[in-house]
Amino acid sequence: MEKVVSILGSTGSIGTQALEVIEMHGMHVHALAANQNIALLETQVRKYHPKKVCVYDTTRYSELKARLTDVDVQVLTGMDGMCEIALDNCADILINSVVGMVGLLPTLTAINAGIDIALANKETLVAGGALVMERAAKKGVHIYPVDSEHSAIFQCLQGNKREQLRKIILTASGGPFYGKIKNELQNVTVKDALAHPNWSMGNKITIDSATLMNKGLEFIEAKWLFDLQPEQIEIVVHRQSVVHSAVEYQDCSVIAQMGVPDMKIPIQYALLYPDRLPCPTRSLSLTEYGTLTFEKPDMKTFECLQIAIESIRIGGIAPCVINGANEVAVAAFLEGKIGFLDIATLSKKAMRAMKPMEITCYEDVIRADRFAREFILNTISK
Ligand code: MG
Repeated sequence: MEKVVSILGSTGSIGTQALEVIEMHGMHVHALAANQNIALLETQVRKYHPKKVCVYDTTRYSELKARLTDVDVQVLTGMDGMCEIALDNCADILINSVVGMVGLLPTLTAINAGIDIALANKETLVAGGALVMERAAKKGVHIYPVDSEHSAIFQCLQGNKREQLRKIILTASGGPFYGKIKNELQNVTVKDALAHPNWSMGNKITIDSATLMNKGLEFIEAKWLFDLQPEQIEIVVHRQSVVHSAVEYQDCSVIAQMGVPDMKIPIQYALLYPDRLPCPTRSLSLTEYGTLTFEKPDMKTFECLQIAIESIRIGGIAPCVINGANEVAVAAFLEGKIGFLDIATLSKKAMRAMKPMEITCYEDVIRADRFAREFILNTISK
């Protein structure tokens, strides 16, 4: 296959799985970027022969350069390096799988350059959804969802009329603390929170899955990707993570996408759309599962979900504030500075403290994000 791919976040969970898919289908890698993991980045460069490689952390730049003196590759660093890769039209498609707000500028840069994006960086849409979707439409850029739920919805929309869609059903695994009540979550440890039952993912998203903030962010992501009203999105807890999401049309037909919980399926669909070729994963055996269960989410215990949904109802900068606040709060939890339940409490406080405002440009997003981060850091240090 002649497809050429660049990856931002190539050493992470999505990035490494994307490389497996790329390898299986004989696609070419044009550029790779990672945050800090230069050892793995070096291995990837030697294996996939990209023309460009970037380490986002500028303090690692000289070491990466030194490791690659014998290789014909351009070594870049920082946000400039990420954006240089994002706008490079030698790639047919850019996989953006970096974690957090840091993914927004490269996304906008790729859109401006007219490059299609396989988007795994949900914070891009949560913080800057209005901006991103408007510019992508203007430039005729396709954004292919990589998140398993959004890929499922995207797949269920194929061959049907968008205007006949009634609602979407976004499934949630419920995370490692499913069935617990608030009191029981008071003293949970980082280790407890990192033990996800179905999916193996990076730390930030695993904590987000434990608080259900991940589902809240996905609610917002779905709103933007599929141009929905909040009322058209239903969240259903589905412990087995087999139904990756579903859509309902006006005739009450519900179409779901199913498969084993393996990110390589949605990654491959985003890269090969509309083709469905063999994928390096297993077949789903429904009889092996036997029973699939569906329940309403417990928003009282998992307040993050409720806050995220409230933020998109408020609109403007509110989701961006929630996103920034949550990023800093999760980092503080991982460092043992705050408790598990503080993530929700602090994020809510940040949203209550903000002055509601519409987003009209990139700087509005940056300002709202900075406000949220500073608010959380100041509150924690008090
Ligand atoms: Mg997901």
